[in-house]
Amino acid sequence: MSREQLAVQRARKSFQTGNTKPLEYRIHQLNSLLRFITERRRDIADAVKRDLGKSEHGTELFETLGLEGEIKLAIEKLAEWAAPRPVEKNLLTISDEVYVQPEPLGVVLIIGAWNYPWAVTLQPLVGAIAAGNAAVIKPSEVSSHSAKAMEDLLPQYLDKDLYPVVTGGVAETQELLKQRFDHIFYTGSSTVGKLVMEAAARHLTPVTLELGGKSPCYIDKNCDITVACRRVTWGKFVNCGQTCIAPDYVLCEPSIQSRVVEEIKKNIKEFYTDNPKTFEDYGRIVNQRHFKRVMSLMEGSTVAVGGDSDESQCYIAPTVLKDVTGESKVMKEEIFGPLLPIITVSGVDEAIQFINEREKPLVIYVFSHNKKLIKRVIAETSSGALLANDCLVHFTVSALPFGGVGNSGMGCYHGRHSFDQLSHLRSCLIKQLKMEGVNSMRYPPHTAKKLGWARFLLLKQVNVCRLRRMALLAMLAGLAAFVVFIRFSERMKPVKCRLHCR
Ligand code: NAD
Repeated sequence: MSREQLAVQRARKSFQTGNTKPLEYRIHQLNSLLRFITERRRDIADAVKRDLGKSEHGTELFETLGLEGEIKLAIEKLAEWAAPRPVEKNLLTISDEVYVQPEPLGVVLIIGAWNYPWAVTLQPLVGAIAAGNAAVIKPSEVSSHSAKAMEDLLPQYLDKDLYPVVTGGVAETQELLKQRFDHIFYTGSSTVGKLVMEAAARHLTPVTLELGGKSPCYIDKNCDITVACRRVTWGKFVNCGQTCIAPDYVLCEPSIQSRVVEEIKKNIKEFYTDNPKTFEDYGRIVNQRHFKRVMSLMEGSTVAVGGDSDESQCYIAPTVLKDVTGESKVMKEEIFGPLLPIITVSGVDEAIQFINEREKPLVIYVFSHNKKLIKRVIAETSSGALLANDCLVHFTVSALPFGGVGNSGMGCYHGRHSFDQLSHLRSCLIKQLKMEGVNSMRYPPHTAKKLGWARFLLLKQVNVCRLRRMALLAMLAGLAAFVVFIRFSERMKPVKCRLHCR
């Protein structure tokens, strides 16, 4: 039996004991996960530094802070999320118990990506634990130091059988994918996403696919271009552009292109100094393969800012490419690196058309003072999310479902959405063994048939909403009559009194 098979088998056996059902147990595991992050902050930062050249401060800001917030939220809200959710009843179930009961799915496979190796792997785990599942955790082999640290340290805090960490590369992931899971939560490229879904289909396993793609950013000429470019520079070059929700390219009118280039150039200097290579908060491309891939994307485009690189260190400077067209090489795939192409369009109409001619992105960014224009982009395009006048920060709002649509993914998570995504929302209806008379009704009356579905006929003929509206109207009419009666009797009091006195 392979290591992967064994891990899944143990997780399933453990799940079947029912240990994860009580909320206290889940909260205990979530607290242990929180303790892991607090106590092992240093180990986590060291691993990320070795994988992506990121500073300790950067890891805190983009990996652990968000994770801690998600865990604390889950601990605080678990009782509410896991409670039965009463639903609206119809006439047939008016005296019954009708509710939705979230229940654990079973064993979840979590396959993480390398760009934020802790956040994208452990955040789904928070949802899996909260929802009462077992979870097999497969960190990305590309961020190998983080994967090793996760494999060594996590079992010191969490139940080893219920939440095993399985490391390895493509072969190990494929071996895992042969096993039967109750849900697969995958973060990574769309290409591998299709393979994951194919493997899941063999067992009819549902999937959440957190994928990537090219997220556009439209800068309207009627906006504060200085502020817009500051925010775009931050969103694009953080983590060396290796962020799934980084603005992939900018769309703007030709009249503001040089201003946009100049502003971004100024911001790069301010954020990363004259020499980003020696600046500790500017990381590196994760490996040589990705370095070569990103460098090759520049072919045929005009470099307006940056462009220098050092292969021995996997360093690529923050780079802006101008006068790019939809046909340029850099527009053929997700960049996932520090290159920012600018494509000129005649206005918002052409920007919308440009976006709609391509795959649905993970996020669309719009910078504009004009609310109507923003609403128009929302109404006329589709994407996992839309963020106006800033970059990346929608990721921090736990109440917003985070996920893609179409080529950028399916399913979503964060906060309660993670809990719901990894739960089965079970419909429960508890009736009483009364009212059998309704079942014995004959319909139509002259037939001999005793039809159980007379009840459904009753439902069909009684529009519950209309009935409720009529009841409300009747109540209001009664109330109005009562008020009129009171006022009338008050007015009549003096008359009655006078008559009486006489
Ligand atoms: P990756 O190479 O680390 O792959 C992700 C996982 O897939 C790894 O665990 C790996 O073992 C597995 N894998 C790779 N090839 C496989 C194969 N042939 N068969 C089975 N498993 C395989 O990550 P990546 O794909 O380079 O990640 C980058 C992509 O992820 C980008 O497109 C990015 O936008 C996307 N991403 C999305 C999110 C999100 O939340 N939507 C977050 C981070 C990254």
